[in-house]
Amino acid sequence: MAAGEMCVRGGLYYSWRELMRRVFSVDVLQCPDCHEPMRILAAIHPPETTRAILEHLGLPSRGPPIAAARAEEDSSSNEPNPEYAGALES
Ligand SMILES: [Zn+2]
Repeated sequence: MAAGEMCVRGGLYYSWRELMRRVFSVDVLQCPDCHEPMRILAAIHPPETTRAILEHLGLPSRGPPIAAARAEEDSSSNEPNPEYAGALES
């Protein structure tokens, strides 16, 4: 196994730190300024607590609004594209 990998009940498990390193190529537990190791002081789970802290700090406390995948158009837009008519029929 490579560094950062653990075997749990027969499966391969990556720590949060290792996943972040693999995806974003960044060590989330290393200070970006002085490069010293950092440690997690607390994990805050209740959403109302998280919201209160973010609002106190003047940071966005809500996620972006969820938008429709595409704007609603007239009902004819639900018709299949003629080029693909019958493509799924065998
Ligand atoms: Zn630092």
